[in-house]
Amino acid sequence: MARADLLRVWTSLLAAVLIASFLVAAALSTGAGAQEAGCRGQVVLDAGHGGSDPGAVNARYGLKEKDQALDVARRLEALLEADGHAVCMTRTGDETLSNNDRYAYANSTGAEILVSIHMNGSPDPAADYTTTLFGKWRKDKELALAVFDGLSTLPAADGAGTMRTRAPPSFASGVLLKSEMPATIAETVFVTSDAEGRLLSDGTGTRQQQIAEALGAGIEDYLAAH
Ligand SMILES: [Zn+2]
Repeated sequence: MARADLLRVWTSLLAAVLIASFLVAAALSTGAGAQEAGCRGQVVLDAGHGGSDPGAVNARYGLKEKDQALDVARRLEALLEADGHAVCMTRTGDETLSNNDRYAYANSTGAEILVSIHMNGSPDPAADYTTTLFGKWRKDKELALAVFDGLSTLPAADGAGTMRTRAPPSFASGVLLKSEMPATIAETVFVTSDAEGRLLSDGTGTRQQQIAEALGAGIEDYLAAH
């Protein structure tokens, strides 16, 4: 290839890279507009992932963690509001949010607690248990345990008793460490599980509602004690 041609190829490659980074930056910045601006509330619900970040994926059942987390968050918002708690949502649609977007928004609401809603993932389609995570040892632990207790009442997806559980571990997430209020990440169920996939994709919303109710029970217990 001639020198001039090579230069032209490199120039267009550089232009393509620049345009691509601009598009990524634009996509990342759209998150702010999707938050409930100016919201003041008692509880912040944070639906994990979103937009360009699908979270864990169950290819067999066509499920993405980002969609399931938002579905559960919306149900939980309705349950808490019906009980008189003001709720602010970090996202209400399929937006890309950074951890910074999430904790900065939570800190702007004056809320008492932040609950980040996730589903776990594993290459093993039989893996399924519930747990919650805490970051700030003193502030988060009690909330993480209360939400864990709520989730522990969930029926197992395979129909045998209640969900398996794993005791809440600490986790160095910016969402937990940089939020000013007690906060927890709920790894509710494994979206990658075959048994969960069957339930979550059956079109009835029954499993999503069960998860929202279990989270709600834990949150209500915590709020009633504070
Ligand atoms: Zn997640």
